[in-house]
Amino acid sequence: MYDPLVHPFPDRKQPDPDSYWLKVSENAPDDDGAIAGDMSVDVAIIGGGYTGLSAALSLARDHGIKAIVLEARSSAWGCSGRNGSFARISGGRVPWSSLVKTYGSDVARAYFQELKQGLDTVRELIATGDIACDKQPDGVYKVATFANHAQALQREEKLYNDVLRYPARYVDAGGLRGVHEGPESHGGLYLPDGFSLNPLKLARGLHRMARSHGARIFTNSPVTDWKTQGDTHRLVTPNGTVSVKRVIVATNGYTSSQLHARLSARVLPVHSQIIVTAPMSDAQVKASLPSGDCMFDTRGLLFYYRRLPDNRMLFGGRSAISGADAAAPRHRQYLYDAMTRKFPALAGIGIEHWWGGWVAVTQNSLPFCYQVPGLGNVFTAGGYAGSGVSFSIHLGTKLAMMAAGQRFETGASFLTREPTRYPLSQFLRLGQWMAYRWLHAKDAREARKAG
Ligand SMILES: Cc1cc2nc3c(=O)[nH]c(=O)nc-3n(C[C@H](O)[C@H](O)[C@H](O)COP(=O)(O)OP(=O)(O)OC[C@H]3O[C@@H](n4cnc5c(N)ncnc54)[C@H](O)[C@@H]3O)c2cc1C
Repeated sequence: MYDPLVHPFPDRKQPDPDSYWLKVSENAPDDDGAIAGDMSVDVAIIGGGYTGLSAALSLARDHGIKAIVLEARSSAWGCSGRNGSFARISGGRVPWSSLVKTYGSDVARAYFQELKQGLDTVRELIATGDIACDKQPDGVYKVATFANHAQALQREEKLYNDVLRYPARYVDAGGLRGVHEGPESHGGLYLPDGFSLNPLKLARGLHRMARSHGARIFTNSPVTDWKTQGDTHRLVTPNGTVSVKRVIVATNGYTSSQLHARLSARVLPVHSQIIVTAPMSDAQVKASLPSGDCMFDTRGLLFYYRRLPDNRMLFGGRSAISGADAAAPRHRQYLYDAMTRKFPALAGIGIEHWWGGWVAVTQNSLPFCYQVPGLGNVFTAGGYAGSGVSFSIHLGTKLAMMAAGQRFETGASFLTREPTRYPLSQFLRLGQWMAYRWLHAKDAREARKAG
């Protein structure tokens, strides 16, 4: 399997994921095929996920610039076509309390507003583009796995209310009955904004909109080499070369460490996997997730899950470390065991889909959107840490703005800084393995304490 720390780019041998979304989505939209021959363009975008497609749409629609997208495989082949489907007020993986401590309340509030705008951007896009992506009603719960996590959720409610001025609401274990069942339901934090959808249909809607405004989307066109002379970049693909003055890099967790020296080791690609069950019986629905809201838990290595419209359970989390190891059946079993521990009524249910993808985690676990220093007109965004459905689309519009010569003004000052390079990138996987061991041990300790 493609591993960004090992391989130079996703090549044609990389298969499509065994994803539920591919099964329930209509045929892929038309695209512009593979680059053939040499061409010169104003703006080229590397990567055809939400970030790249949103930048292409915004450039064409809002700035009159008809960019091209160079996608290694097919449109939304990366995270955007295979994610857990939650569009939330989220981006990165820093608890709000830590964010306030590090950056202060004003910056934290500005960041929250930027994220909120991200969700509004997606709502508006779905409405204006008339994108049929099976959008569900709003509602998100962060659910206390162990009884002693409930207090932390109550503190978080206060922070949301007092500092972020957002009406999050703590719901006690009794209030969760009929919403989230099972032995790991010890109260929850309810966030009124955020919804699930079919992520592949959303990406394909974005793709169609971008093309209808004049963007061109070239598939099976991996950038295999990148040369810069003066202010011109030459992006080499297997069957043609693109000369361009402005480049947007939207490869996020799929960024190979070999794409460009300046970009290398700025994000750690972290593998996230999902299983989807066979349809649940009515009794199983009632005993697991009667509500269709977006759910995630409070474990150190958290699980995210939802009931799909056809009453299957989608259940995701992190376990595999490298691409070479990602297909090992024990990772599938790990998710199955976690799901049936949470919802014993699902013991024995069949698994019909199992797939994974690479999310991008920066050293400070926060996203970025900046002009790359020393490379001229090169702009990039990413680092959503597995929480990028809405924010990647939002930052795509900011990349378009920057490539069109405007500034991205934001009170969340950290967003526009180049992420620190990971030190000793050859030891990244070892560090990650040790972090997972530590988090598993912590979760196991808490489980034992909880009895
Ligand atoms: C299993 C899983 C579950 C997730 N669940 C959620 C969720 O529920 N909610 C949420 O908010 N977020 C979730 N995410 C994260 C979210 O999907 C991403 O943050 C978002 O899709 C990022 O979009 P992107 O366009 O930046 O990157 P991607 O969609 O990953 O696109 C990058 C693209 O770049 C292409 N590429 C790479 N190298 C090259 C090259 N050299 N030349 C050309 N093209 C190249 C790749 O083929 C890829 O298509 C999840 C991710 C995964 C993997």
